[in-house]
Amino acid sequence: MTPMISITPVEAFNDNYHWLIHDGTYAAVVDPGDPKPVQRAVEKAGLKLVAILITHHHWDHTGGIKALKAQYGCEVFGPLNNAIEGIDNHCVEGTRLTLPGLNLTLEVMEVPGHTKDHIAYFAAQTDKYKNLLFCGDTVFSGGCGRLFEGTAAQMWQSIQKIMALPDDTLLFPAHEYTLSNIQFALAVEPNNQSLQKYNDQAKALRNKLLPTLPAVLATEKAINPFMRADDPDVVKTAETRAEAVNLSAAQVFAVIRHWKDTF
Ligand SMILES: [Zn+2]
Repeated sequence: MTPMISITPVEAFNDNYHWLIHDGTYAAVVDPGDPKPVQRAVEKAGLKLVAILITHHHWDHTGGIKALKAQYGCEVFGPLNNAIEGIDNHCVEGTRLTLPGLNLTLEVMEVPGHTKDHIAYFAAQTDKYKNLLFCGDTVFSGGCGRLFEGTAAQMWQSIQKIMALPDDTLLFPAHEYTLSNIQFALAVEPNNQSLQKYNDQAKALRNKLLPTLPAVLATEKAINPFMRADDPDVVKTAETRAEAVNLSAAQVFAVIRHWKDTF
């Protein structure tokens, strides 16, 4: 029998998770900004680090490439951006990659918005794992990434691409921002009962210092205002705020994204 794949969060900096994907022998890590906690986790579990997956160029996602590659000789996958040093395999929309040793096949999605180079890695369900998406700083539980380089229209399109994945897809974002995102989401949709319930669950997890992630796509569709830009309540809030009518979903998305920047 082939071993099951586990995914565990390696905590780094204030609120980053460097997701460690492993089968008990081989491992890959997503967006290792800090090499030290990754080294500790790999040594402790006796794993062979065979791959690094990079979603975008920000330092808190790439800072560990050099040290980890030097130590483990692992293969580095990342976006088509020459500004990121150490990438062996540049990935674009539709690139399929199989991680050495792990036998995990991933398909790359281009999801610009937070940065222009942002990509996500999707693994379709097998007998070893569920539908998985490593989405970096594109979507968080209850929120989405800030628009540093892309436009709101681009980000809305990227989020719709993610929303088209199977509802049971597990989302693995790179930050624990859930509680603060929920505060904003409640300002957008004070009457959303699924959101209120999710708030209670997330608070209970954080009280025990447990991660609120991974997030389930179906749940995010019910509670994340950035996936709900066509929901009548969200539209109404955005139209009131923008003093406008007949906003498109992309425009609603832009209004609430802009609001979140100063919330
Ligand atoms: Zn980022």
